[in-house]
Amino acid sequence: MNVLVMNCGSSSVKYQLIDSTAQKKLAGGVVERIGMSGATLSNVRYDGDDIKIAGEIVDHTVAIEYILAMLLSRNHGVINDKSDIHAVGHRVVHGGETFSDSVLITQDVIRTLRDNIELAPLHNPHNLRGIEACNANLPGIPQVGVFDTAFHQGMPKKAYLYGIPYSLYSQYKIRRYGFHGTSHRYVALRAAQSMKRNPSDLKIVTCHLGNGCSMAAVDRGVSVDTTMGFTPLEGLLMGTRCGDLDPSVILFLMAKEGLTMNEATTLLNKHSGLQGISGISSDMREIITEMNNGDKKATWAFEVFCYRVKKYIGAYAAAMGGIDVMVFTGGIGENSKEVRKACCEGLQFIGIDVDDAINGSPDQEKNISKAGTSTAVLVVPTNEELVIALDTVEIVEKLQKH
Ligand code: ADP
Repeated sequence: MNVLVMNCGSSSVKYQLIDSTAQKKLAGGVVERIGMSGATLSNVRYDGDDIKIAGEIVDHTVAIEYILAMLLSRNHGVINDKSDIHAVGHRVVHGGETFSDSVLITQDVIRTLRDNIELAPLHNPHNLRGIEACNANLPGIPQVGVFDTAFHQGMPKKAYLYGIPYSLYSQYKIRRYGFHGTSHRYVALRAAQSMKRNPSDLKIVTCHLGNGCSMAAVDRGVSVDTTMGFTPLEGLLMGTRCGDLDPSVILFLMAKEGLTMNEATTLLNKHSGLQGISGISSDMREIITEMNNGDKKATWAFEVFCYRVKKYIGAYAAAMGGIDVMVFTGGIGENSKEVRKACCEGLQFIGIDVDDAINGSPDQEKNISKAGTSTAVLVVPTNEELVIALDTVEIVEKLQKH
């Protein structure tokens, strides 16, 4: 089955066409600057053919028209007819408390997603726009929603309630939701598979370290705690997001500098994290380069980043009564031996000890723990698009059987 996987943002649409049977990416790319001048579509085909075109891409519907035209194009395409797309899988950021699994998108689901817009005002409206644009361009093709929050819906109340009046949870559903669920689910499962173990026998800590960063405690297949919260702002230090912060800091700044709500949101989401501490970059590669050049602020940014990961490893070991497997994934987790080493340093007391030679090896998927240690430390490249494609196929096949 060919599944078009879509990830719709405010001004961008990322896509991949995946042959789910062969688990192969046929083509993928991104439309950028939707609704602005200088909009472009960049596409890479499975054989490496790549092309970038400019166009007047005024909204998500036009973006999807461009994507379909590219997939069908004589010179750069991979399919002959729209009907070669058998289903569409959408990454949807927030499923609230309603969705603990991927779902077939129906009018009811669309209504519920609209009701959840308040929970994810920066993301869900664009996801909805993408769904509507696919309805218009690919009528009759089944669409499935795969939620970033779904995997964490198994968290117990003690992990998701905040210490604020319970009535605010009842009224506004203010609680920890957690994000990156598709990635945490995928790498936990792959880690268990690669160790030839059943996930239901393992206590796994997954670290998704990319531009956004989060960790999850996956206890026998269930995410029982995670670092991101009501929004993706909580928890680890990230490229430009602050992560854990005393809420009074915001109140203090609002009073002291007269920050508006929008300014505070921008400060914490766009000007904090690695970028904020270092004043250099949100990109871990540049932070490490400048740290190696002796820059103090880059060093502090690196240290805060790794210390927080280490602190949560300890917290999740306590939450689960031990750890059998640690997994690193995401652009930083997959590529930075320096970050992996620093996050695991001094954790021999819980059986975590990294082998420097294997940690530095170029292999993509590997077990970097020293022989004889009780906790395996794995590097597993994430593949959220594949999970979305496979979930989509599972749901569509069930539908066809009925
Ligand atoms: P996103 O969260 O947007 O999907 P990625 O998972 O691609 O992002 O992660 C982007 C991050 O990965 C950036 O901070 C980048 O610096 C980092 N990264 C990529 N390659 C390396 C590397 N070799 N060493 C350190 N960091 C890396």
